[in-house]
Amino acid sequence: MRELSLKTPYGDRIFTGDKPIGMYVCGITPYDATHLGHAATYLTFDVINRYFSAQGRHVDFVENITDIDDPLLERAVRDAIDWRDLAADQIALFQSDMTALRVIPPVAYVPATDVMDLVSQAISTMQVNGFVYRVEEDLYFDISTFLDELPIAYEEALKIFGERGGDPTRAGKRNPLDPILWLSNKPGEPGWNSPHGLGRPGWHIECCVIALRFLTGPDFLKHSDAVHSIDIQGGGSDLIFPHHFMSAAQSAAINGAPFSFSFVNTGMVGLDGEKMSKSKGNLVFVSKLLAKGVDPMVIRYALLGGHYSSDRMWNNDLLNTAHEEVSAIRSALSREGVAETLPVIQRIVDCLANDLDTAGALSAILQWSKATQTGATGGSAGEMSRALDLLLGLAL
Ligand code: ZN
Repeated sequence: MRELSLKTPYGDRIFTGDKPIGMYVCGITPYDATHLGHAATYLTFDVINRYFSAQGRHVDFVENITDIDDPLLERAVRDAIDWRDLAADQIALFQSDMTALRVIPPVAYVPATDVMDLVSQAISTMQVNGFVYRVEEDLYFDISTFLDELPIAYEEALKIFGERGGDPTRAGKRNPLDPILWLSNKPGEPGWNSPHGLGRPGWHIECCVIALRFLTGPDFLKHSDAVHSIDIQGGGSDLIFPHHFMSAAQSAAINGAPFSFSFVNTGMVGLDGEKMSKSKGNLVFVSKLLAKGVDPMVIRYALLGGHYSSDRMWNNDLLNTAHEEVSAIRSALSREGVAETLPVIQRIVDCLANDLDTAGALSAILQWSKATQTGATGGSAGEMSRALDLLLGLAL
């Protein structure tokens, strides 16, 4: 099978060789159900996971759960329930959505609340290395060493940082972009004891520590040039800055090694021409589509019809077309004689190898189903069906 090539925000990356792949994908904050943007992201990394597995490569796939964060605590207060119960319910719903969409689960789903001691140790290491300072009772990360590596212009970074959970205007910070590492406890909020006081960590350091610990091993706090790097850091394009940038900078501040060999980011999914967002109230939830009786394989097919890295739109036409095409492919697969399958499977592999061109792969399958419907023979429906499942997770 061809080697997978992906275009990343930092250049093309070809995954040569046969070594195991360490893939870390930023998971959910469990305060609301899985919407189609989440689903598109996790499907992308599922197809990447499936591709490496089909090549015979071992994939260590780890995903975090941000089960302690401001939005979760705010929602728990709003709904008058314990934040732990809210998180547990939403994690269960997320996992059932992922199962329905046939996303192969990670080898470890790691909740942030499981790694509080490790995070606190990592902050201590960064302190020794000179990257940490205090503002009142809170600890901040000094980003100055890494500013040359910003993926966007400084002014834009400042604006986005404020919009995505940062506090650029807080007095006493060395640089407005410095992210919080340890937030001291506020009355009524959960807190963990640590050498840094009672409190909780910032978001970026959680992902950094989980990725390093679970993908590079228990010695990740020790300085080293290379052994602490992961292969893929994944997530939505809204995570390129600040989240992935900050996680990588903090990782380098801990052990000196590059955090990840590649960063793979997925586009945003909009609805009917508009950005899908909580504030607009137009999020489309996977669980609601499933409850309406939409076939999860149709949702999967519809989302794979767009390129992972492009922003794209969801609408009813897309769903209806996906429904018709999935029915046509199912009908072809149920025939006794089917069009030749090996060239189509090869075409699917070639499309996927080329920056995960899932749309090209689906179009090849559709052409095959049309050829089958018009009487072409010479292939094996069983072989085709297994390939669709193996490579694209489509159980048709
Ligand atoms: Zn993350």
